[in-house]
Amino acid sequence: MLEEQIENAIQELRESKNTDLCEELIRTQGVQSPAFAQAAFEAGIFRPAVLYQDASPEVRDKLIDLLDQEDEEALGKLRANDCLVALAMIGDDTVAKYFQKWEDNPRPWRKSLYVGPLAYAKEGGWCIEDGQRKSLFFNECYALEKSENATPEDNLFGGTASEKCPYCNSSYVNMLVIDGSDERLSFLGINGKIKIKYCPGCLPWTESLFCRYTEDGESTVITHEGGEDYIVEDEDINDQTPIILSRKMVPKSYCEEFERCAIGGRPAYIDDADYTVCPECGKLMMHLAQLGEELSGCGTHYIQICRDCKLATVRYQQT
Ligand SMILES: [Zn+2]
Ligand SMILES: [Zn+2]
Repeated sequence: MLEEQIENAIQELRESKNTDLCEELIRTQGVQSPAFAQAAFEAGIFRPAVLYQDASPEVRDKLIDLLDQEDEEALGKLRANDCLVALAMIGDDTVAKYFQKWEDNPRPWRKSLYVGPLAYAKEGGWCIEDGQRKSLFFNECYALEKSENATPEDNLFGGTASEKCPYCNSSYVNMLVIDGSDERLSFLGINGKIKIKYCPGCLPWTESLFCRYTEDGESTVITHEGGEDYIVEDEDINDQTPIILSRKMVPKSYCEEFERCAIGGRPAYIDDADYTVCPECGKLMMHLAQLGEELSGCGTHYIQICRDCKLATVRYQQT
């Protein structure tokens, strides 16, 4: 049955260049097949890049060969940008080695790009830190969903906090209360409950809002620069439908830009992949959760975390 679905999806991709069925199988059913990347590469299709997630070493090496030559003509009509995004999505140690090499010794195609290969790595959700490839997201993933009849214990939405934002006078909001002792979330390595607290009024006008958390304690929003005089009413926040975690794990690439939301897994950015540098240790923060407009109330929120420094940040993108 599934075999048949995969075949149909690939046929659809080949015949009408429609990738929807393939994407659906990868994101919601967790199908991991090198056949998607193979067919996409042969058809000259590079988006969505998630098609390349489980590419075979052969497809990976063909992409590497195209970029590794000094000959400007080698790429033909392919674009370096497309090949780099696909390779970033494959993102294994071999890719990491070449990205570092091309970063240090730029190839002719580098001139046509705004950023170097290592910036592309983030599109695949990884970076190179101290010479090693480091993943910026968790492979485990649980969906976040609205549920009218959630019990208070199951509700991850924390509602308004008691403090108000000094810039816009909106109440701070505990966007997510994450219980690290919940077996499903043990992969996070958090001992106890943490609150992701932020200002919903200021977020759209600031790049990142940070909070410092303690496990099983309160979070403190770190003063941010600026904001806007835009009050979000408490009622609008506290009327929100509870948010619950799915019972079962979902595939790591479950999220999409606007609707499907999750804790863990690979984020789906609306714009370029955007990972925050931790203001304390200077390392890139890890993706923790994604909330689309239905859960966030406004734009897509990306929550990132530095567990070493116990800091979380909320970032925001919209079309
Ligand atoms: Zn504010
Ligand atoms: Zn840090």
